[in-house]
Formats: sequence, C-alpha cells, structure tokens
Amino acid sequence: LRTVARVLKFRALTNHSRFYSTTGERRLEGKVALITGSASGLGKATAYEFVQHGAQVIIADKDTQRGPKVAEELGPAALFVECDVSEEAQIAEAVNVAMSRHGKLDIMYNNAGITGPSIPHSITELDMNDFDRVMQINVRGTLTGIKHAARAMMPVGSGSILCTSSISGLMGGLGPHPYTISKFTIPGIVKSVASELCKSGIRINCISPAPIPTPMALTQIGKFFPGLTQEQVAGIVNGLGELKGAKCEEIDIARAALYLSSDDAKYITGHNLIVDGGFTCFKNLTF
Ligand code: NAD
Repeated sequence: LRTVARVLKFRALTNHSRFYSTTGERRLEGKVALITGSASGLGKATAYEFVQHGAQVIIADKDTQRGPKVAEELGPAALFVECDVSEEAQIAEAVNVAMSRHGKLDIMYNNAGITGPSIPHSITELDMNDFDRVMQINVRGTLTGIKHAARAMMPVGSGSILCTSSISGLMGGLGPHPYTISKFTIPGIVKSVASELCKSGIRINCISPAPIPTPMALTQIGKFFPGLTQEQVAGIVNGLGELKGAKCEEIDIARAALYLSSDDAKYITGHNLIVDGGFTCFKNLTF
C-alpha cells in the first residue's frame, strides 16, 4: 500500500505520464545521482525516474529558471545546483555538493548537450567558433564530468557513469557537422575511460537516443519545416522511429539510464546502448 501511495503521489506531483515509470520498484534505493542538463528533456525525465526508484538526485543545469522548478516538483529527494558544464570549476562544485550533502556519488550522468547551429551548413561554410562551442559542451563537458565523478568514486571503488551520445553519433547526415562529430566522440571516450575505470570498480556507458521531441529536437528539426506548428514538428520527430506501433519518448531513455545505472547492469561497462526502435538498423536520412 505504501508503494501504491508513493506512486500515486508522484503521479499527482508530476502530471507528465511519459516521464514516470509505473512499476513501483526501487532499484536505486539509497543511491546518489548527479544529472547534468536535467532541467529539461531527457535529463529531466531521468531525474523523475531515478527519484521514483529511490535515488537522491542533484539537478545540475545552467538553466536557473527551469532547474529549481524541477527540483521543487521532485521534493526533498532533489536539489538544484547551477552548473555550466563548459566550466570545469562548476562541475567540480556540483560534485562537491553531492559529496558534502550525501557523503558519496554513486551515479554521474553527463547528459547536457547542445546542437549548435540549427541548419547543417556545408563543410565549406563551417564556422569554427560554432564547432569549438559544441565540442566545449558536448565533449569537453562530458570529459570533465567523468574526471570529477571518477575522483569522487575511486576511493570508494564503485560507481556508474553515463554519457549521452545520439544516433547522430552513429551515422552522418542527421545533424550539423559539429553536433554529429561531437556525438561520434562520446562512445570513444567511454571505451577509453572504461579501460582504466574498470580497475577501480567503476562502470561507464553511454546511451544513443533516437530523435525525441524535447525542446532541443523541436528547435533543431523545426528549422527544416518553418511553416509547421510545434505539434506538427513533434509528429515528424515521433515518426522517425521504426519500431511498429511505438515511438521514442523521454521515458525510454530514462529507463535505459536506470538500467545502466543500477546493479542490474553490474557487469556492463564500455557499452553504447542504442535506443532507436531500429532506426539505425537500415536507414540513413538527410534532411
Ligand atoms: P533539452 O534541450 O530538452 O535539454 C538539454 C538541457 O541541457 C537543458 O536543460 C539545458 O539548459 C542544458 N544545458 C545546455 N547547455 C548546458 C551547459 N553548458 N551546462 C549545463 N547544462 C546545459 O535537450 P534533450 O533533448 O533533453 O538533450 C539531452 C541530451 O540528449 C543532449 O546531450 C542531446 O544531444 C542528447 N540527445 C537528444 C536527442 C533528442 O532527440 N532529443 C536525441 C539524441 C541525443
């Protein structure tokens, strides 16, 4: 009954059916998780899922409007920390907050990312400043998050680190060159670092999601369809998955993150979990 009450309370609080799990299980009971980019989209959905599974979550985001609201919705299990992942000192501070508040960090999810220029310019027109900015957040920000999480986890000898790649990190033609290149880099980082961290009992994996109509994807893909409403663009984004009768939603990524973070995946490291309904099995697509 207590579990049912907890699930009902959570549902009443969040009111976003595609964001929460309904299983009532507590797979992250007692765990402490830090999620970057969790004021919106996939990171936010993962924060909801982790809290429902018993975790304490640090909502680390540069968005000081939406971040505190997400933490407030999640209640005492969540805390917002302002964090721009392109600033190493801010990532270090977010990890410090987790350590001083909870005494440990079990899960670090390096999820924050940007698409950069919305229209894929030709390589001949590439603005190198755009490239640097995307790499600074998507790649350097991820690597810095791994560095500081590993520092916190190594003395304990356990932990799970997650990163976000994309199906744009598996095939060309899905986005602007800087974004695609940055996302190709993530599985490489994961492989490289996994080879060291496994000796310390720390696992590191990444997730490659299909397009999901988060604010980022709607802005990015909406540029290609200027006359359409957000709902129509969302319909196009949802139509990109290939699994019959299914569409990719935030909760699908949150559940993948839950699995990889939990002890269910205790022997999995260096892995890239593709969550795309079969999209990359046979399709290449250029907008
Ligand atoms: P989103 O725009 O909904 O959320 C991104 C969050 O990251 C926002 O809260 C934003 O404030 C935060 N952020 C951006 N720059 C930051 C920075 N420098 N420091 C800290 N926080 C920052 O986007 P989303 O779709 O949820 O994207 C999350 C991740 O998933 C990204 O890495 C993205 O590349 C990846 N991804 C998204 C899709 C998709 O279709 N939505 C598909 C594949 C991969």
